[in-house]
Amino acid sequence: MFELTDVTKSFGELCVLQPTTLRMEQGASTVLIGPSGCGKSTLLRMLVGLLKPDGGTIRFANEFLTPQTLPSQRLRMGYVIQDGGLFPHLTVAQNLSLMPKQLEWNQTRIDQRIDELMDLTRLPKETRHRFPQQISGGQRQRVGIMRALILEPDAILLDEPMGALDPMVRYELQEDLRQIFRTLNKTVVMVTHDLGEAEFFGDTICLLYGGKILQKGTLQDMATSPASPYVTSFLKAQR
Ligand code: ADP
Ligand code: MG
Repeated sequence: MFELTDVTKSFGELCVLQPTTLRMEQGASTVLIGPSGCGKSTLLRMLVGLLKPDGGTIRFANEFLTPQTLPSQRLRMGYVIQDGGLFPHLTVAQNLSLMPKQLEWNQTRIDQRIDELMDLTRLPKETRHRFPQQISGGQRQRVGIMRALILEPDAILLDEPMGALDPMVRYELQEDLRQIFRTLNKTVVMVTHDLGEAEFFGDTICLLYGGKILQKGTLQDMATSPASPYVTSFLKAQR
């Protein structure tokens, strides 16, 4: 679904990503993990086309990301950030309606789709007409996920979606999210700094450090045959 070839990215003097080549298969879930500041969000933003690589190429569904193709490619990717990224001055329903309205869906179709997603994400019906500040953090995150799913994208990309939640809410959302992804059979790319979450969601885990993917595989692989001493200390620090 995503294919990166020799992708590089720097901010001024700071090299965030050395030449990186990576494939993410359709229907699989890939987790990007690593310490704060290692470039996880930067990599994710390049995948959704919010940032342009300095070098190399990115393909989505066999098509290069280019300024010309990006607008239609973006419609096939759902992007979720911490705390949902909702507009505070719009109600839940208004937030969810933005993209469908741009695509000129009629109101009946929009309402039906919102109903389906409310069921899927287990949000109470009355949250529909509330503003983001009037619902809980966990509910805001569910709305963020609904918004990412509303156009039925092929891939969903999530940047620390559970980062701002307390443990119990986080646990419930993890369980629900995994169920949703399985049901919908989506390609998932998730950023986290939590090893437990990485193991829970990732078919494949990529550990980023020092501007590169130090190791790609399962947690088991990393524990039994670490690619470098850093991998071992990263795992230890999180246990
Ligand atoms: P992570 O998500 O892994 O915590 P980021 O991808 O957000 O890391 O950032 C990687 C590095 O790039 C950090 O050192 C960060 O300060 C820097 N960085 C990120 N975005 C920018 C930007 N727009 N301009 C300058 N530096 C940036
Ligand atoms: Mg980040």
